[in-house]
Amino acid sequence: MNKIDLYSMTEDELVEFFLSIGEQKFRAKQVFPNLHRGIHISEMTNLSKQLRERLEEMTLDTLPKVERKLTSKIDGTIKYLFRLHDGECIESVFMRYKHGNTLCISSQVGCLMGCKFCASTLGGKVRDLLPSELLGQVIAANLDTGERVSNIVMMGIGEPLDNFDNVVKFLKLVNHPNGLNIGYRHISLSTCGVVPGIYKLAEVDLPITLSISLHASNDEKRTSIMPVNKRWHIDELLTACVDYYKKTERRISFEYTLISGKNDTEEDARELAALLRGAFRGTGAPIHVNLIRVNEVEETEFKQGSTDSANRFANRLEALGVVATVRRRLGSDINAACGQLRRSAACEKSETEVETLD
Ligand code: SAH
Repeated sequence: MNKIDLYSMTEDELVEFFLSIGEQKFRAKQVFPNLHRGIHISEMTNLSKQLRERLEEMTLDTLPKVERKLTSKIDGTIKYLFRLHDGECIESVFMRYKHGNTLCISSQVGCLMGCKFCASTLGGKVRDLLPSELLGQVIAANLDTGERVSNIVMMGIGEPLDNFDNVVKFLKLVNHPNGLNIGYRHISLSTCGVVPGIYKLAEVDLPITLSISLHASNDEKRTSIMPVNKRWHIDELLTACVDYYKKTERRISFEYTLISGKNDTEEDARELAALLRGAFRGTGAPIHVNLIRVNEVEETEFKQGSTDSANRFANRLEALGVVATVRRRLGSDINAACGQLRRSAACEKSETEVETLD
């Protein structure tokens, strides 16, 4: 018999499930909040022992387990390596800010997209994460820290819009008032530019924040570091962004990883400002660029520039009418770039079949 994935179920699906095993539907109302609070089935004392045992037998334990954990001595940032039920591993990062705790979560095991500067994509994509495994990262971090995650950024391993249905289901689960009740406005989703996914997300119309990993201001440069740009060029991407803004009225933020000598010159800043201002002209949309100095990854040749040069780039953008912030770095002493912990922990199973973009 196929095992049941309780954490992936909505309350309505749980009702169906309990009815299908001859239980009453109020069980759903008992179980849903407890699951999301991280209470294991065996500890759900509002259920009979017999029902607990039956449920345990029928279900797959999809809650990620802490495999390794690095804690920053500087600011308490925690980097988790989580092990999944099939032995695969993913990373999440727990960060403390004045406005609350933010968890950066993974959306896939590995990644298909092949961005040249990114460690997460070096081994290709192994599989999508289930809604339960997306939600489970938040539950597991809440349990481990004894604190509450109040903000989520989907900027860990994987491309969220390449796992669209599971991601949207997760967003609805994590927002549910009887569950973790995290407001959509406290959730950001970052994409490398999967254009059909941006249109679909606009249709779903959840008031989350969309971040676009742009990283270059013309097609030639962008294609050389991001293979996804071969499929959807910058103009198609920005047209989708304008559509998203018009439909949702949500501000879009652009991520721009500064790579020394590659995309961080004065000319690059000028071209970037002109590109974004041109695309959003007449829409009234505020344009915000987040600058990140590239995290150097051993297997790649990309080099990080100085803080001064990042600040100069930001000032240039500001002078040209584009709001820009240089991202503050938390956990700089545990600063394995995204995806590197998973690689170094030999969690990638060499026999696993992987997919790549080309
Ligand atoms: N696939 C999604 C989300 C995951 S990556 C996306 O591409 O947006 C989250 C962000 O980290 C992206 O902006 C990505 O381009 C950036 N990133 C990846 N590797 C990096 C590195 N080595 N240094 C700096 N930023 C990096």
